[in-house]
Amino acid sequence: MIRVSSGTASVLGLKKIRQPAPPTTAYFLVGERCRRSCSYCAHSKDATTGPAFLSRITWPEFEIGAVREALKEAEASGRIARLCVQVSDSYGAQEESLDVVKYFRAAISLPISLSICPGPGIAGKAKEAGVTTLCHALDAATPAIFSRHRNGEWKNVISHLQQALEYFPGNVSTHLMAGLGETLEEMVDTMVELKSAGIRTGLFAFTPLPGTRSSCGPPPDIGYYRRVQLAHFLINKGVSRDDALAPPEGIIKRWEKSLSTGEAFMTSGCAGCNRPYYNERPGDIPYNYPVKLEKEEAWKELELAMAMKKTSCSWKM
Ligand code: SF4
Repeated sequence: MIRVSSGTASVLGLKKIRQPAPPTTAYFLVGERCRRSCSYCAHSKDATTGPAFLSRITWPEFEIGAVREALKEAEASGRIARLCVQVSDSYGAQEESLDVVKYFRAAISLPISLSICPGPGIAGKAKEAGVTTLCHALDAATPAIFSRHRNGEWKNVISHLQQALEYFPGNVSTHLMAGLGETLEEMVDTMVELKSAGIRTGLFAFTPLPGTRSSCGPPPDIGYYRRVQLAHFLINKGVSRDDALAPPEGIIKRWEKSLSTGEAFMTSGCAGCNRPYYNERPGDIPYNYPVKLEKEEAWKELELAMAMKKTSCSWKM
């Protein structure tokens, strides 16, 4: 049996749900309740949410053979572009996730991301199993925020990300979560550091989930999040730290054409990953757009980024 995100199950024809923006990556969850106690995570040992939850998403279980058959069909028809296996830090989950990757790899040629806690030798084992992108989530933008919201050390994750580059050059990624109490400057500094190290960043918005330690924290202001997305987009285009932090009016003119595509406000991370509804309910303004934007929509979102007055989120835990 394997846990499959509800949206993925629907794309694979295993479950019927109505979804205006279907996932373009197939997401899987391996492992039970996590040994860690990240304040915002529905899977942490401190959370009172059921084990079928991660982020805002439910993960029903399906027989793995049936899932692999459905994946083969979805690959052939082009409905999915990638697989992503997300692993909790629970007993035996690392080994199980590698077995899952091997099992899928035997039948599927699509890229496979493995999002897993750092551990000794994991990069080599992941490579051998058939993983193509290795992700260790930082989530927190600074060491202080990391120790406030997570177990362990920020610099330990950074060091594992750097080591993973030896096995996955150009294909190491991390997650950063906006809204945990960082300033825009801190977020930009970390995005610049990761970019210069050759590590790709996927942006998330902090989402207060019932049953977690952070359930009472406010989600980030949408203008702040758009400003972070804009800076992230510009840094990936090679813009300097100072230019990414400067009032955006000038830089928007310089990058008008690429900004008009709206790519800056779409889901970021591994190619083909759109994570619909991870951070918001269907019908809400998405923090990360899972589909392409029209030019007018892109400009509306840019205006939100330009209107941002504060440089940090309001919530400190
Ligand atoms: S960016 Fe998407 S595909 Fe890549 S590890 Fe994160 S959730 Fe998985």
